[in-house]
Amino acid sequence: MTSRKILTIVDLPGSELDDTGLGLLSYCTRLAGFIEATWGAVTMIEPVDETVASFGAYGTPAVKFIDGGASLLDTPVSLGLNLAQLIRDEAANLVVLPHNDLGVTLAPVLAAALDAALFTEVYSARQVDGVLHLSRSALGGRISESRSWEGKQPLVITVPLRSLSRILLPNVRACTPSVSCWKSGDCPADIPVAKVISRIPPDPQTVDLTDAEVIFSAGKGCDEAVYAQLQELCQLLNVSFGVTRPVYDLGWCGFERMVGQTGRTVTPRFYLALGISGSMHHLGGIKDSKRIVAINNDAKAPIFPNSDDGFVADLGELVPRLLDRARSVCGGEK
Ligand SMILES: Cc1cc2nc3c(=O)[nH]c(=O)nc-3n(C[C@H](O)[C@H](O)[C@H](O)COP(=O)(O)OP(=O)(O)OC[C@H]3O[C@@H](n4cnc5c(N)ncnc54)[C@H](O)[C@@H]3O)c2cc1C
Repeated sequence: MTSRKILTIVDLPGSELDDTGLGLLSYCTRLAGFIEATWGAVTMIEPVDETVASFGAYGTPAVKFIDGGASLLDTPVSLGLNLAQLIRDEAANLVVLPHNDLGVTLAPVLAAALDAALFTEVYSARQVDGVLHLSRSALGGRISESRSWEGKQPLVITVPLRSLSRILLPNVRACTPSVSCWKSGDCPADIPVAKVISRIPPDPQTVDLTDAEVIFSAGKGCDEAVYAQLQELCQLLNVSFGVTRPVYDLGWCGFERMVGQTGRTVTPRFYLALGISGSMHHLGGIKDSKRIVAINNDAKAPIFPNSDDGFVADLGELVPRLLDRARSVCGGEK
């Protein structure tokens, strides 16, 4: 069998491993286990001791950091070409990236530089008779496309964030990773280098709900007055606003705010369901939220067994009080 080595590219925002980073480590441990590969992680900055310990807790055998890698983050092509050289030096043949801004920018650069196959948004990976089978959805989710990889040609894959779970697998053994530095080189002069000139944090009021971190959603249990109060509350607390189908049908907001099976599939850290019964069509779009809290005046509403926490309350009484509190804390301003 061709020897296999997986490298995953891990961003360390604020010098820490975030959920995406930990999810990648978990993903690679599992992948390396069933395709019998060695693996390691590459970072753009030198990891601090606490981060090295987190790498170790997730069983990462080796961490390579790029000397001068942070300055390359603003020139993705230079970063990609340097990473490609590092991957060649490491004789890695499977590169795993998150399907986020960084991953989708780097993946084609790496695939071209390494003459590798590229398969994006892989939601499923399994092993059949020593061959890795990868699947992704295509045509807007209507079909599933599968490919196999025997390890003969290098492969670059991106994994959607919703498929990355930071769960520590029971068979993972904590270790002390070897940490080493890789010296970056200059980008060849004839390569046109695009430079990132600024990064603007997303505005929760306008961000695509699929990328929102915290969402408060209004259901049919919100009348027009409560709906308006909730919008103000979301602005004060700087969180994103969603709705259910019946609220969208009232014409109070655009389709891009609708959450559920035919609306947006969301994966926020926190989802607050206000006056939402919990139909399967709505639950289908929120089930991967990290934490779901529901408020409903019906203790038997189906949303409650599908929530991490629930409160029985009348929104007509509760929301004005929440809004008063938010106004006094935030001084009526965002
Ligand atoms: C093919 C198909 C696709 C669909 N796709 C979607 C989709 O993508 N997204 C979606 O959301 N729906 C979708 N639907 C509709 C879905 O089936 C439900 O009808 C809808 O989700 C219900 O929305 P709701 O919970 O806001 O309203 P309701 O089911 O009417 O629930 C309102 C809730 O508010 C509570 N309530 C009432 N007054 C108060 C109060 N004063 N205080 C507190 N609580 C109160 C009630 O107890 C109730 O539980 C779809 C339906 C179909 C057939």
